[in-house]
Amino acid sequence: MHEAAHSELHPDTLAVVAGRPAHAPDAPMNVPVHLTSTYVAGGDLEYGRYGNPSWTAFEDVLGALEGGRCVSFSSGMAAISAVLDLVEPGGLVVAPRHSYTGTVAVLEERAGLGRLRVEFVDIADTAAVAAASEGAALVWFETPTNPALEVADIAAISAAAHLHGALVAVDNTFATPLLQRPLALGADLVVHSATKYLSGHSDVLMGAVVTASDERADSILQRRTLAGAVPAPLEAFLALRGMRTLAVRLERAQANAQELVRRLDGHAALEEVRYPGFGAVVSIVVRGGAAPADALVGRTRLWVHATSLGGVESTFERRRRWPAEQPTIPDGLVRLSVGIEQVDDLWRDLAGALDAIA
Ligand code: PLP
Repeated sequence: MHEAAHSELHPDTLAVVAGRPAHAPDAPMNVPVHLTSTYVAGGDLEYGRYGNPSWTAFEDVLGALEGGRCVSFSSGMAAISAVLDLVEPGGLVVAPRHSYTGTVAVLEERAGLGRLRVEFVDIADTAAVAAASEGAALVWFETPTNPALEVADIAAISAAAHLHGALVAVDNTFATPLLQRPLALGADLVVHSATKYLSGHSDVLMGAVVTASDERADSILQRRTLAGAVPAPLEAFLALRGMRTLAVRLERAQANAQELVRRLDGHAALEEVRYPGFGAVVSIVVRGGAAPADALVGRTRLWVHATSLGGVESTFERRRRWPAEQPTIPDGLVRLSVGIEQVDDLWRDLAGALDAIA
């Protein structure tokens, strides 16, 4: 479909129609999986590390949803590394204290090697982030944060960072472009772990970077080509297939999350229920810390004890079971990724386990 036609469409529709083959007799409905390592010479693609039509279809859809040019990667971490590669040696990166553990690890590793400097901030404190962005090369953040669920003011932080000449990159994994469009709010780059909501079925690892600047998109593409962090064609096909149903999955998962938050509120086994008001990730803090929280995740039949999130099935885990998780995350914090099951079934299973540990 022509770009101009896209601009009139609701994002829920774009997720369904963008990136399809042209409507022509006998054209397939979906871009097929292109399993090839090389192409006949003389065209635009030439070699499997340079491009693949299965990636392009995924990139067309995510680019249309985020409002920029998308470059897909083999994982969210590969996408994050490509963005960090934009920072000149010794440049300052401002990042949330409670970012995803992999993000904190890659920032700390690069800082330790002297490749960049990093300052961790409370991303919900806009004034503090604005002050820290003076002299920064990149203000990086995710919002809501994983797993603390703090929310950043993307527009205010972007404006402050731009005053100081810093680039702004937002990890939009938790919200997805259907709930939050960072580029429209002033960010320069958006990053996704497409492994999560975009794919949505816990069967794919993939990542992506989206930017409205052609020059920046070219440098990101160059990073992918040279580092070789390319998605597999089948993964790109599956991730795109997942994105086709993103709107309905998210609508259901979010409604389930909101209902569970309502029912969880004030439960005797809990110290706190954290929910930013949108999306389908909820963090609960179990009274008594690690031991009762570990008991909780071992007592359910529907909820799966697993580390990823954003799938159709509900998963949960105590985040501090990972030694890399920040010590400022409560020991008893259990992150719930609410799926699309029937909410009464989810509640019965969770409430039964909570009552048993209360
Ligand atoms: N960003 C966030 C917010 C995440 O939660 C994760 C993974 O859990 C990543 C990035 C890394 O993505 P991937 O596991 O696809 O490399």
